[in-house]
Amino acid sequence: MSLQTRYPTFDPAWKKHSTGGWYTIPCPVCGTPDAVTWNARSLPGPAGRVPVCRECLPAQRDTWSERVAVAVDQGPRMWNADAAAWHANPGAKVAPVAFALADGVGDDPEPQWIAQLAVLRVAVAACHEGSVAAIEDARRARDEYYETVGAPLSQRGDTVLAVVTPLERGYQAAWCGDVRVWAYTDGDLNQYTIDHTAETELLEAGESPEMAAQYRNRVHRCLSIGDVESVFLGPDSDLILLTSDGVHDALTWAQMRQCMAEELSKGTGAAALRGAVQSLVRAARAAGGRDNATAMLIRTS
Ligand SMILES: [Zn+2]
Repeated sequence: MSLQTRYPTFDPAWKKHSTGGWYTIPCPVCGTPDAVTWNARSLPGPAGRVPVCRECLPAQRDTWSERVAVAVDQGPRMWNADAAAWHANPGAKVAPVAFALADGVGDDPEPQWIAQLAVLRVAVAACHEGSVAAIEDARRARDEYYETVGAPLSQRGDTVLAVVTPLERGYQAAWCGDVRVWAYTDGDLNQYTIDHTAETELLEAGESPEMAAQYRNRVHRCLSIGDVESVFLGPDSDLILLTSDGVHDALTWAQMRQCMAEELSKGTGAAALRGAVQSLVRAARAAGGRDNATAMLIRTS
């Protein structure tokens, strides 16, 4: 699988590429060059599905389309550096499907691009290798990409991300940084990931929440650096939610739970799932959020 050719081009003097917009890339599954076009300002593919070439399409026919919803709000930022994608591959060795959410570090075309690259790569790779190895794979893809285009270290984009795959029983989430993975079960919302931020470390060291909160945005692990951590979600996790900090920093746990409860009290069909993620990103913006905000919700059965 090669993802090195024909990514967005940069000018030789290493000014930032400034257009974003439409990218033509190799198929993330088979590597056929120039096989896929998508708009990096929006979601990759319909409702966040990884875009693949025509030949790879049959492998994507699956039962997940009605069970996944994604909402994105760019907010007042110049760029949407959040990215979310999922990929179904019923014949894959490790998992039939994988879900990924990334949040590029900074308001810039570079983190936008790396977040997009990471979710595409991770969602495809996690089906074959599992979620932890998939993040390591995306890490190599980032390094390879920047080596290939000769980017100076200071201008390489970075991202935090999380990926979820089903196991035989239950689910595994792997992550680095402060993308969060939650399970919503019987009306209760539980956070499974721990933010890899200075805030978390200061709290563990006994500092006050007020003092630690000033360091919330200082991320200690991301695609370029730090160990990948993973956590097990039990088989009773009816709905799995992934959020970028644009959602979970703008809202309290209680507000998030309320958004979910309002939309999901009458059922968990496709429209209810969409309603829940839209409610989350709208509430985050209404609460004064100034970051890109993205939520992805998966009904597991
Ligand atoms: Zn293909």
